[in-house]
Amino acid sequence: ATPTAVMVGTGLGARRGVLFKNATALETSARIDTVVMDKTGTLTKGEPEVTDVVVNGMAEADLLALVAAVERESEHPLARAIVDRAAALGVSVPNASGFRNIAGHGASATVDGHRVLVGSPRLMAREDIPLGDLASSHEALAAAGRTAVLAAVDGRVAGVIAVADAPRETSAAAVQALHELGVEVVMLTGDNDATARRIADELGIDTVISEVLPGDKAAKVAELQAAGRRVAMVGDGVNDAPALATADIGVAIGAGTDVAISTADVVLMRSDPLDVPVALRIGRGTLRKMR
Ligand code: ADP
Ligand code: MG
Repeated sequence: ATPTAVMVGTGLGARRGVLFKNATALETSARIDTVVMDKTGTLTKGEPEVTDVVVNGMAEADLLALVAAVERESEHPLARAIVDRAAALGVSVPNASGFRNIAGHGASATVDGHRVLVGSPRLMAREDIPLGDLASSHEALAAAGRTAVLAAVDGRVAGVIAVADAPRETSAAAVQALHELGVEVVMLTGDNDATARRIADELGIDTVISEVLPGDKAAKVAELQAAGRRVAMVGDGVNDAPALATADIGVAIGAGTDVAISTADVVLMRSDPLDVPVALRIGRGTLRKMR
């Protein structure tokens, strides 16, 4: 590797806000054939908003009060969306006790003497809570690309709160540019399969790996590597750090968490997915000059 080629590549990147942390990151970028992208906060804006509330035998405000009481204790982006919605509607939110975060599934707490459970269909299945009539509401909302959060009160399902997180403006163009470079794009997410597939379809993404528990993202990257892929992992969250470290190169969204940024080999300061193909092109250009 000529130091000059590396300096040129690093400089080109820096001007565009694509920070290569070292020469190896630049060289490895040239050889990537698979880009794995986290969904929430990477392909999407990570600013979820409540779009629908479906209730089952309870007033909407009462459901929101119970669920927001639990979610006020959570740091999950979905939780913030629900708490904001309750506040916007002027719902008075009681205190919760015994809060428990259930990683990759949801959360629970006691509110006004009721046991409230909030989260994914898998969480409800695990707790043996049948979805009843709400199964079809959940299905329809997920098929529309929304994350449908289920709520159960005292062991009975009481409602669905749908949350939408819009794709970043340039996500589809980034996927297309990666395809033009001959790179396969994979979406990796903890979200429901139907929700993930709908968003992947909108963005033109070939492969979806969904319902992955936070601790299992790195293992999914390792599986692709074991199948002979050279993988760039793009992510923003604390959950993504092990996967960023496992990948041939880890790419952090600049607006992401400190842990993701410090773990990554490349940082996209503009938080623009289009800078992923830019990084790969700079890597390829650098390698060509080194021969
Ligand atoms: P992501 O990969 O999108 O960050 P997570 O692994 O954090 O997703 O969560 C996976 C799924 O678990 C979410 O899509 C949601 O259905 C459920 N979930 C997790 N935490 C919460 C919460 N605090 N409130 C509601 N649902 C939650
Ligand atoms: Mg994320």
